[in-house]
Amino acid sequence: MTQLSPLATAAELDRQVLRLYAVARRARTLAGILAHPQATGDGVDYAVARIPRAMSAARRLLALPGVADHEETPEALSCLTAAERQLTAPSTRLLRIAAAARQAAAHADAVDDDLRVVVFRDIEERCRVLVDAATVEPVLGLRGWSPRDRTASDALQQQAAQWQLTKEGDRARLTTTTVSTYLCHQTAERAAARTRCNTGIRCTGSACLAYGAVKVTYLVDSWLCADCSKNANNQLTAAGRAPDTIRPLPEGTPERGRYIVTLHNATGRGSRSVECSSPQRAQFVAETERPFNNTAYTIRVAGPSQD
Ligand SMILES: [Zn+2]
Repeated sequence: MTQLSPLATAAELDRQVLRLYAVARRARTLAGILAHPQATGDGVDYAVARIPRAMSAARRLLALPGVADHEETPEALSCLTAAERQLTAPSTRLLRIAAAARQAAAHADAVDDDLRVVVFRDIEERCRVLVDAATVEPVLGLRGWSPRDRTASDALQQQAAQWQLTKEGDRARLTTTTVSTYLCHQTAERAAARTRCNTGIRCTGSACLAYGAVKVTYLVDSWLCADCSKNANNQLTAAGRAPDTIRPLPEGTPERGRYIVTLHNATGRGSRSVECSSPQRAQFVAETERPFNNTAYTIRVAGPSQD
């Protein structure tokens, strides 16, 4: 007899339902990526491509005899439907916009387009804030978006399209885009910083406002202008040190080199480093990147440039 015994059939059915659960868990993990405010563009693309695959695997399993009617199937199904819903959720669209905006801001930064850097970073930040607000807190039963968040999401998507950050935007004619006074102000500040930093690194002498400082001997982590070097040397000589203890370090401030800007939280934990290839860019990054509320910075040269 080739007929399977009822026991063998039941075991086989259990196995299929277990597989369905594995697929549902996978879909839930992928949907989790799409609900994460800091998801990267790659992460979002990955989840968006993989959720439909999990759905087809689930459909194949559900078509097998008995699986759809199994008592444990509804729970797996609810995970799968939630994942499918997440695919088309506005927050997923916002994450895609955030990823596109981040990329566009990096391109704009590379060509010194301050307005676009400011606008795109603002769009990215607002997208991620809204994605965070969309997360439903199941234990406390906190609701997702308020009506105000929904309006903000719609406006943001429209704005993204105007700035060509969405597929719809590629087809849309570039309409006149308005930029808020606040962002215009930020753009002007960024442009002013760029002009200031054209002279090079800012002197670390206390209360000194000079730019174009150089790396010196004796004082670690210091960049000094000629006046501050002279003053410091006078103080050292008066205290009995050899004259000219502080001198410009030979090759200490190369026009092209590996400048490492370390941005750190002046009032707490945390730091981030950015590598730059010129003293001007290093100073500009030091003055414009603000990863913390109280960002302080140090600039050092790590050695010759790799390029
Ligand atoms: Zn100085």
